[in-house]
Amino acid sequence: MTASQAQEPAQPRVPVRKTFTSLNPATGQPIASFPVCQGEDADMAVSRAREAARWWGGLGWRERRGRLLDWKSFLTQHMDELAQLMHEETGKPADDATLEIILAIVHVDWAARHARRVLGPRRVFSGIAAINQASTVEYQPLGVVGVIGPWNYPVFTPMGSIVYAIAAGNAVIFKPSELTPAVGEWLVRSFSQVAGRGAPQPVLQLLTGAAGTGAALAASGADKIAFTGSAATARKVMAIAAENLTPVIAECGGKDALIVDADADLNAAADAAAWGAMSNAGQTCVGIERVYVADPVYETFLAKLTDRVSRLHPGSDEKADYGPMTMPGQIDVISRHLADAVARGGRALPGRAEDAVDAPYVRPVILTDVPEDAAAVTEETFGPTITVRRVANLEEGIQLANASSYGLGSSVFTRSRRRARTAARELRSGMTAINSVIAFAMVPALPFGGVGESGFGRIHGADGLREFARAKAITSQWIKPPVNLTSFGRTDADLKRTVGLITLLHGRRGQGRRGRSREG
Ligand code: NAD
Repeated sequence: MTASQAQEPAQPRVPVRKTFTSLNPATGQPIASFPVCQGEDADMAVSRAREAARWWGGLGWRERRGRLLDWKSFLTQHMDELAQLMHEETGKPADDATLEIILAIVHVDWAARHARRVLGPRRVFSGIAAINQASTVEYQPLGVVGVIGPWNYPVFTPMGSIVYAIAAGNAVIFKPSELTPAVGEWLVRSFSQVAGRGAPQPVLQLLTGAAGTGAALAASGADKIAFTGSAATARKVMAIAAENLTPVIAECGGKDALIVDADADLNAAADAAAWGAMSNAGQTCVGIERVYVADPVYETFLAKLTDRVSRLHPGSDEKADYGPMTMPGQIDVISRHLADAVARGGRALPGRAEDAVDAPYVRPVILTDVPEDAAAVTEETFGPTITVRRVANLEEGIQLANASSYGLGSSVFTRSRRRARTAARELRSGMTAINSVIAFAMVPALPFGGVGESGFGRIHGADGLREFARAKAITSQWIKPPVNLTSFGRTDADLKRTVGLITLLHGRRGQGRRGRSREG
């Protein structure tokens, strides 16, 4: 160091912001760069969101509904632009991206229109013992909700949390997957432009980065974390959130089964299995990964499925049925599952399993004769592959379907309405589609979520709105009670009279089998 250098005043340190770049998975071309947000960014976002939440919550149901519906119109009018960006950042065909946006639009509409009915104040019957009280329940916003999203459905999936949380009156901080930050930014920007007019701070904020940024959001003291991703990451997020007692919703992976009964419409079942397994290159949490087919129709079903699958081709041209694998690392998982299945006696259709991978693309593979404890049956493959197994009947299909540690969605194909209903109830999954696949995701009034390794909590529908609100119970005494039980002035006679009344009302057996029940 020279003397003159030593005398120079110390320069203020300018923090060097790390950035990352999202890439087009088909071409490897860069799409856009974003900052790697850290703990201080998450903390700042939460303090901004607190102010935004007060403002947004204060707007009232009607105003929020109007603004959300304006955003819905904007999304509808700019569908092509968003679909193109999704195509570039995930590799999925633009038509599939459009379908995904349509689903999200339907949810914005439903959440906006039903938030007041589901969450607004509602009178409940106080009961004879508290007849002097007028009772109401209402659902208040939590405040600030952190949404951590995946890359496979970068619009539909996070919007299932974002839209319902905002409709419930919360402010949201959205951490999109590091593979799809540009799509996340598009959503946040469009909300601010259209629905966030006049806000002192943004109601929907963007926090970009990878695992460290997600961890910072989980640790930030947000009032709830809505996480979508793998079960392994969900465990990490929960451990961080536990420090602040922050509640978490975990929407995790799946290993969805489709069961084909002996009386099923085999054309419809084969068509649905092919699409359920291969669309979006199999990168679908509620994608079909296992098929169980009743013995009498096994060969016919397999022939029909093979015929359909052999006509599919991956690519990024306009005619491609599905695109590349969005996350390069997933190809290793798919290769491992295929190799293990073949090593353990599995048969691949329509081509050789060894030829399936042509990175970044994977050709569709049907695997038969794979043991039930092989990785291709037990682990989430998340690729355009499907296992097909012969079972004695529907009951055995249900038993094997339920043997999974996952339990997200499921499908059953049968012409018998009674058998379909019974199967749907017995299948250990959050959602079941009868004679179709994934239909439940298109019905905004239905709750969406899993059991076991597929996570817990529900997005969509009334349950989805309530996930982002806390129940507030209010009683209001409108007349003095004949007997004041909550007073030191209570006498023995008061208690005796009350016991007499309760015995009269509740002491007899067999009441449940007579008369009507009265609920709040
Ligand atoms: P992932 O678990 O790797 O990442 C999900 C998100 O968590 C990303 O935003 C990531 O940056 C963040 N993250 C990673 N490590 C973190 C950490 N330690 N702390 C906090 N955040 C962290 O999952 P993915 O590969 O992005 O998505 C694919 C998975 O998501 C599959 O298992 C799929 O089935 C599942 N998924 C589930 C649903 C559903 O609704 N149930 C929907 C879509 C996808």
